[in-house]
Amino acid sequence: MAILEVKNVGKRFGGLKALDNVNLSIAENTVHAIIGPNGAGKSTLLNCLIGKLIPDTGSVMFDGQSVLGRKPFEINQMGISRVFQTPEIFGDLTVMENMLISCFAKRDGAFELNALASVASQRDVIEKAEHMLEDMKLMDKRHMHAAAMSRGDKRRLEISMCLAQDPRLLLLDEPTAGMARADTNNTIDLLKQIKEERNITIAIIEHDMHVVFSLAERITVLAQGTPLVEDTPEKIKGHPKVREAYLGE
Ligand code: ADP
Ligand code: MG
Repeated sequence: MAILEVKNVGKRFGGLKALDNVNLSIAENTVHAIIGPNGAGKSTLLNCLIGKLIPDTGSVMFDGQSVLGRKPFEINQMGISRVFQTPEIFGDLTVMENMLISCFAKRDGAFELNALASVASQRDVIEKAEHMLEDMKLMDKRHMHAAAMSRGDKRRLEISMCLAQDPRLLLLDEPTAGMARADTNNTIDLLKQIKEERNITIAIIEHDMHVVFSLAERITVLAQGTPLVEDTPEKIKGHPKVREAYLGE
């Protein structure tokens, strides 16, 4: 069953057709990668899924409900969480405080700054935050300032904060961009763990083919705003059009 169904989506920026008649179906509990050259429209597509952009044409259905016209926070409440290219964490706060913010936001629908001060009376939220950090192997770093962590750990924290929202669909836009190999492998392992242990669907935009082929069960290749081909990793690897359009052969 498809958890996300994109039909005939188009998006223009002035004279530029960033997305042209995009059809995409993402099956529940799979890891689906979206690849394609720079400027292919990958981030634009993702932004249309989370309410940051509104497509000019077409429809986007999540679990049978239209996301179009809804605000990003409403789409988040429907069960879609996203991770951007640059980690969105609070560097001045500790790892634990970052996680608490995410857990408060999930419970209360908003985060009140004074909630951290009266944290002692918030047992349920603290327990959830501790549980998440434990699960995501960040518990031993909970008192560290987030800014002092490695790139891989920052990403780990950000993904963990997304998971604290209990999403059914996790969207990631180039989560390993600019990372050293060790951090990239760390992120691959984390996503593998999430895939195995949690009942969620992952859609990942990714440039690094090592990451794509380590994780994806389905791959859509986007070129010039249109899906060129969609298939299994094995088929994609040997596809002549893909080699030409994406791998530059
Ligand atoms: P990708 O993520 O695949 O690299 P993008 O979705 O970011 O591609 O961009 C697709 C095309 O749309 C590019 O040509 C880009 O320059 C253009 N574009 C993206 N966002 C905007 C915007 N806000 N305004 C104008 N043009 C944009
Ligand atoms: Mg992009």
